[in-house]
Amino acid sequence: MQASPCYPLLCEPLFKPKIWGGRGLEKILDKRLPPGELIGESWEVADVPEGTSGIANGPLTGMSLRQAMEQYGEALVPAQQNPRFPLLVKFIDAQDDLSVQVHPGRDACERHFPEERSKEECWIVVHSAAGGCMLHGVQPGVTWSEVAARMRDGTVVECMRRVPVQAGDVVHLAPGTIHALLKGVMVLEIQEPSDSTFRVYDYGRLGEDGRPRPLHIERALRALRLREDAPAKLASRRQIFAWGHHESLMDIAPYRIERLSLQRPVVCEAPSAVSIVFVVLAGRVLVRQGDDATALRLGDTCILPAAVDRAELHPEGDAQIILAIPGPGPKKAAGPQVTGYNKGKGKRPKAEAEAGAGPAVRIEGL
Ligand SMILES: [Zn+2]
Repeated sequence: MQASPCYPLLCEPLFKPKIWGGRGLEKILDKRLPPGELIGESWEVADVPEGTSGIANGPLTGMSLRQAMEQYGEALVPAQQNPRFPLLVKFIDAQDDLSVQVHPGRDACERHFPEERSKEECWIVVHSAAGGCMLHGVQPGVTWSEVAARMRDGTVVECMRRVPVQAGDVVHLAPGTIHALLKGVMVLEIQEPSDSTFRVYDYGRLGEDGRPRPLHIERALRALRLREDAPAKLASRRQIFAWGHHESLMDIAPYRIERLSLQRPVVCEAPSAVSIVFVVLAGRVLVRQGDDATALRLGDTCILPAAVDRAELHPEGDAQIILAIPGPGPKKAAGPQVTGYNKGKGKRPKAEAEAGAGPAVRIEGL
């Protein structure tokens, strides 16, 4: 039988040991971690030179996402997004403070770093210990030259904004934003597929080889954008339906992110041939497409290939699922369409008119 990628692909994560990692992914998301290692990241969807995730169900079982992209690229993602899968999706478990860093954006890469790739990031907080915080941008009034001086003398944390976070918060890290995830916080990170990171402060820690990990201060300063007025946490618009509720979390050129809280089954249609990444953040969901059914548990991720234009999501009890949809590249004129709203309770979603121009995905009650 010819293997076909036209079914919901359950992802096999790639676990990354880190000096700041631990066993939180096992405790909170029930991940089966390799024994005895401090795991910092679970790469759920990855097709980058630094690593690839795998496929854990159906005819493609055992194949890496890289191999699947090579063989079935156009069935997985629209042609203009090839040759690599256009999103990198990870869980990050910060059992200690992560290094303070800056990622370059498209402009900085074009002007200064042709070998690097733009990295636009979004964090959805999965768990936060009491007092959990992150560092996002700089405090009001802090100038570029003060940041530069503090990066060089190792005190940059003192001029950064410290933002308390809790589960469910959504944080946008536009390229150029200086940031750090701090101890006790676990996030789902959705980002452009890039590992371009300029580290500017590492708390004087030693790496696995017993030496300090390298810093990239001069490069970070070329990518830095202060944006002291940019909100760290994003407000989302929640729309209530008979089947649960829907929130549009982010709608920017590289991707769109939505959150569904499901009490009843919905059908998800993507008529414009987009791939969709589903991540379950609460409960269990059965993804049905034709005769195929893929069971997703808490913390599981699956890719709905572009060649599949319709799937049903059946929650077991209450479930929460994140949809990450790679951007269209050049903008097209279609926003998210969510129908089946309750005439009495919910309002006609304003988001249809206001949203950006991501590819159309239609969610409807079954
Ligand atoms: Zn980052």
